[in-house]
Amino acid sequence: MDTPMEIRNKLLAEKLIKNFQKRHMEAYYCPTKEEAVKKALELIPEGSSMTWGGSMTIRDMGLVKALHEKNYDIFDRDICTDPEENQKAMRRAFSMDWFITSANAVSEDGQLVNIDGLGNRVAAITFGPKNVLFVVSLNKVCQDVESAVKRARSTAAPINAARFEDMKTPCKVDGTCHDCNAPGCICSCIHILRNSKIEGRIKIILVGEEYGY
Ligand code: SF4
Repeated sequence: MDTPMEIRNKLLAEKLIKNFQKRHMEAYYCPTKEEAVKKALELIPEGSSMTWGGSMTIRDMGLVKALHEKNYDIFDRDICTDPEENQKAMRRAFSMDWFITSANAVSEDGQLVNIDGLGNRVAAITFGPKNVLFVVSLNKVCQDVESAVKRARSTAAPINAARFEDMKTPCKVDGTCHDCNAPGCICSCIHILRNSKIEGRIKIILVGEEYGY
């Protein structure tokens, strides 16, 4: 028998999937990370070119590893040590078949909120790659877009800032957002994706288990 959490997650995912469809996006619900990885591999045809943004979700759930084990044309910035190559790869992302990312928050009505320092991730989400695949845990779902932006700014961003040892932003001192303009601020762009002009370009896998920040 399903637990109360499983029942609620299924209902929430059904609601979200309908709301994404109204925004011309395709969405799927996978209760576990294993099902989410399987679904991602089903969606992405063999031989596709791809890269991804700095998402902990896709790394922690094992999707990056699974993609490397398949026959894809991958540019993985995590294993690129040349800063110039890295810069080129960010631009190359715009002509790739797939861009894979998570979201910092999602509203119940199907809007995806992301915060970005340099802007390459939200740029690729906005335009360029033929397909964008979001993999998002249900713990990032907020009641409305205002609370999603608040989550992205006050929860996700300070935790993400804590990942970088050399960063000197106010949130590194007390774990809360100070709406800063400090050098190295990771919150230059606040991006809300509320619709896909190209039918089905945006695909979302919702995951029942908790991943990412
Ligand atoms: S303090 Fe600055 S870097 Fe930290 S979360 Fe806020 S805006 Fe982002």
